[in-house]
Parts: sequence; C-alpha cells; structure tokens
Amino acid sequence: MLSHYSITPHGTGDKIKNICPFHNDHKPSCGVNLEKQVYNCFACDAGGNALDFFAHMEGLDPSNASELRKAPLAAAEMFGIDQALERPANE
Ligand SMILES: [Zn+2]
Repeated sequence: MLSHYSITPHGTGDKIKNICPFHNDHKPSCGVNLEKQVYNCFACDAGGNALDFFAHMEGLDPSNASELRKAPLAAAEMFGIDQALERPANE
C-alpha cells in the first residue's frame, strides 16, 4: 500500500519509518509497524491502523463513521486486501 502512494519506507523488517503524508514532513517521522499494520507520526500525532491510513489518503474522514465504512470496499477494490479488513455483516 505504501508504494501505491509513492511513500518510501526507511528501514527494514516490520518496523519502518517514512515521510509523513499527513503534514509537511522533511525527515521520516511517521513510524509504521507492518506486522501490526498500524502507524503513528511523532511530529503531527497522526496515527491509526491500515484502514485509517487509507481513509486519510483517500480524503475520507476516519472519525466519520459513514465515510469510514466506505474505506474497506475502496481499499479492497484497489489493493485486494479485503481479507485483512473487517466486513460489515449482511448489507
Ligand atoms: Zn505527521
């Protein structure tokens, strides 16, 4: 997913850092734990899980429940990673 957004990861293994896409970042301050699929920026305090990240990047508001519900479907269409995300039951 990171490469889709032209984000260059710094570091190897499950814990990497990248230039934060959520503020005007000049050094890698956004930590990403690939194993847990969570991120947290030490500079602007952005953080969350993979779905929050996707919602942010696509201009959805993770704090808005109805917008966040769109994110898994959109993410699945773009990346085919729906198996990693919780599905709403019987919609
Ligand atoms: Zn940031």
